[in-house]
Amino acid sequence: MFDNVFQTYKLRLYEAMDNSFIRAALRRAVDSFRINRDKALKRYSDVEDKRLRLIEVKKHVLSNLESYVKQTMESIESNNSYAYYAKSINDALKIIDEVIGSGKMIVKSKSITSEELNLNYNLKLKGNIVYETDLGELIIQLLDSKPMHILSPAIHVPKEKVAELFSKISGENLPPDIPKLTMFARSFLRDKFFKADIGISGANAIVANTGSIVLIENEGNARYVSNTPPKYVVIAGLEKILPTLIDATILVEVVSRYASYYMPSFVSIISGPSKTGDIEKTQVLGVHGPREVHIILLDNGRSEVARDPLFSQALYCIRCGACLYECPIYQLVAGNFGYTYFGGVGAIWTAFIDRELHYASLIAFTCTLCGRCKVKCPMNIDTPEMILKLRESIHSIKLIPEPIRQIIENVKKYGSPYGLTNRFL
Ligand code: SF4
Repeated sequence: MFDNVFQTYKLRLYEAMDNSFIRAALRRAVDSFRINRDKALKRYSDVEDKRLRLIEVKKHVLSNLESYVKQTMESIESNNSYAYYAKSINDALKIIDEVIGSGKMIVKSKSITSEELNLNYNLKLKGNIVYETDLGELIIQLLDSKPMHILSPAIHVPKEKVAELFSKISGENLPPDIPKLTMFARSFLRDKFFKADIGISGANAIVANTGSIVLIENEGNARYVSNTPPKYVVIAGLEKILPTLIDATILVEVVSRYASYYMPSFVSIISGPSKTGDIEKTQVLGVHGPREVHIILLDNGRSEVARDPLFSQALYCIRCGACLYECPIYQLVAGNFGYTYFGGVGAIWTAFIDRELHYASLIAFTCTLCGRCKVKCPMNIDTPEMILKLRESIHSIKLIPEPIRQIIENVKKYGSPYGLTNRFL
């Protein structure tokens, strides 16, 4: 079985490397990302102190995770919302099933945690219709593919392909003109927001002492998703918990600058359903916004990782994407270097959260250990050190594809990956 996984993975990497569209799209994205990130870091030089503070806050939360989960759930409930703790993917899907049911129209904003649950597939199985509303995610949904970046899921798709996809759903012949394609997406999704029964999003942060959800975005779709349907459902990993709103605003600044923005267009703080007390001070839930807010805190291995002295740092990740733009492998093959989560740090998430050890092994052994990700990470995450440890563990449980095992044996025996043969002769 592992051989098949290995061959498929290898083929995917080779196909991606041979794809000139992916290479051109990534080259342009990497260049403009680096210029914009450097500008943002220069203009807001105080981000250095903020990121160091955020690291300390994350460390503190993860060392006291249980009590923070409890506090967060209490705060959510005190906001007239429903709080759920899901130990596993199955628990989360069961809760979602009870909250959403079947036959609903759902609008969804970008959420990598939902990828962890394979949520769209499961919602469709129950007879629901799901519309991704982030432009990149909509493209990915129409392609029936998987996101290739945490912030720019369709980073590898050229405009000509987008024109072809959008022409199919519009019944018109749309040109590969980026502003026009964007306007088509706007008009296509507009009535979906208002007709939908349910909105689903992830969260960039959840504030323990106020029970607030913090969403960072540029397109404005998350605002519709969280505001127009009568029911709003949030799925977020436990690592998103921060103690206070001040901590959340620090996160907003650090994520934005390291993701190459001065400031995102929208930051939403949602603390419960829409409400009014304007008539005789009688509180009524659901005015213009949702009547119900359901927040699912997903564990799925996070509390175990949080207890590990080395691997817990993977949970500091704030999904800024900065490491991906530095990674020499990612620049060649995009999100094919990953599973649900990408890049070197993605290997750790694949091992402990997705628990896909075959893929974790492949990602860990694809990593070059160059260390560029560590240098550029605002959270000082030492991905190379974790990868080395992961490789050791994988080696000890003998979960290594045969070609890689051969290389390890050669290095051990002959001090060279090529054994006695000098490849260059
Ligand atoms: S590992 Fe660091 S650089 Fe990479 S996405 Fe996470 S926080 Fe950003």
